[in-house]
Amino acid sequence: MARIETPRRVRGTQDIFGEDQRRFTQVLDTFDRVRRLYCFARVDLPVFEATEVFARSIGETTDVVSKEMYTFPDRGGDSLTLRPEFTAGIARAFLTEGWQQYAPLKLATSGAVFRYERPQKGRYRQFHQIDAEILGAPEPAADVELLVMADQLLRDLGIAEGVTLQLNTLGDAATREAWRTGLVAHFEAHRGELSEDSLTRLDKNPMRILDSKDPRDRPIADAAPDIDAFLTDEARAFFDAVTAGLDAAGVAWTRNARLVRGLDYYRHTAFEFVTDRLGAQGTVLAGGRYDGLVESLGGAPTAGVGWAAGVERLAMLLAEPRADVLDVIVALEDDGLSGLAFRVLKALRDAQFSADLIATGSPRKRYDKAMKVNAQVLASVTRDREGRAVINTRSAVQTETSVAVAAILEGVAQ
Ligand code: ATP
Ligand code: MG
Repeated sequence: MARIETPRRVRGTQDIFGEDQRRFTQVLDTFDRVRRLYCFARVDLPVFEATEVFARSIGETTDVVSKEMYTFPDRGGDSLTLRPEFTAGIARAFLTEGWQQYAPLKLATSGAVFRYERPQKGRYRQFHQIDAEILGAPEPAADVELLVMADQLLRDLGIAEGVTLQLNTLGDAATREAWRTGLVAHFEAHRGELSEDSLTRLDKNPMRILDSKDPRDRPIADAAPDIDAFLTDEARAFFDAVTAGLDAAGVAWTRNARLVRGLDYYRHTAFEFVTDRLGAQGTVLAGGRYDGLVESLGGAPTAGVGWAAGVERLAMLLAEPRADVLDVIVALEDDGLSGLAFRVLKALRDAQFSADLIATGSPRKRYDKAMKVNAQVLASVTRDREGRAVINTRSAVQTETSVAVAAILEGVAQ
């Protein structure tokens, strides 16, 4: 018979199992707990959208839109794109689903996102993000709320050590316009020394030259004028209110005047939580205010602020996750008693205790197998010397669980 070849896993995708899965779950569970503490409503959105949702909002000159989107025509001829991030889809839903009526709206979501990048360690083509957004809140308190929440998330995950909150302001429209003019003048004077990518940015979005990673651009970017000289009084007051809120909440931050974020729609606050533990991929959580986004999708001017974090990157930073501990492992030592074993399992699970069964292989070895399972209680379903069915339990220490389990098993045995 012809040998059948096993299909490969697609490059840049992952099957998340075992310890990786435990880390993943810990990140997502913690995020879900924290978003409830801060009263963010969970939302789930489509994995694909009309391409224009991302093209129009994220900005044509960004890496994400210009190089990294998974875009394809569907059978009907429409151009669809697998979401490369959540914010644009949330803004689209805000408009198409009439969520304006709930504004201000605090939303949280998580799931797979897709970017066509060169796969490498910690960089995938299908990866996962957690995301939090506040729509319809123009006041700096919303920025503070999101940053305090992010800070608590990182602390609750136990990875706040070595992580710094870097904060910048991109000002309001007037500030940006004035700063942009200043930047263009500076970069024009060094046109000959810029990378090709930055020459394109110079025409379309000169601010993005500031966070270029190309070594040719760095000295010119570093010498560029800061936004501070261009800030309007309103923009400065906004930034001061954000930093005062963070100080009051006890969240440490540092100013990074070079932080501009990749996406075109940011205004005022821009931030990144950066770790010194991941080398070049040091950003663990990033976001900012995007008051221009909803308008770019044809909606009325709507304030927005939010952040996203890569689940894989957070998972990598976790300390060794605790192995799963099961409540009860049941060893069936006599195959004639399988009915009793099933009743035991059913009673335990009905009472909300996790339970699993060892009932394969040599019956004499099942007890030893069960001993190796990480469980609070071992219950063996067996026969005593007189041949009567019995359930023996054993636990290393007496706990609330072991006492409750013993009572349930007594009930089943009768
Ligand atoms: P980078 O500079 O690392 O490419 P980015 O600016 O593209 O990051 P964002 O668009 O801000 O990243 O996405 C937020 C987070 O998503 C990042 O901080 C990172 O943790 C994660 N992330 C981005 N791209 C990938 C990827 N290809 N694989 C895994 N995680 C990713
Ligand atoms: Mg990227």
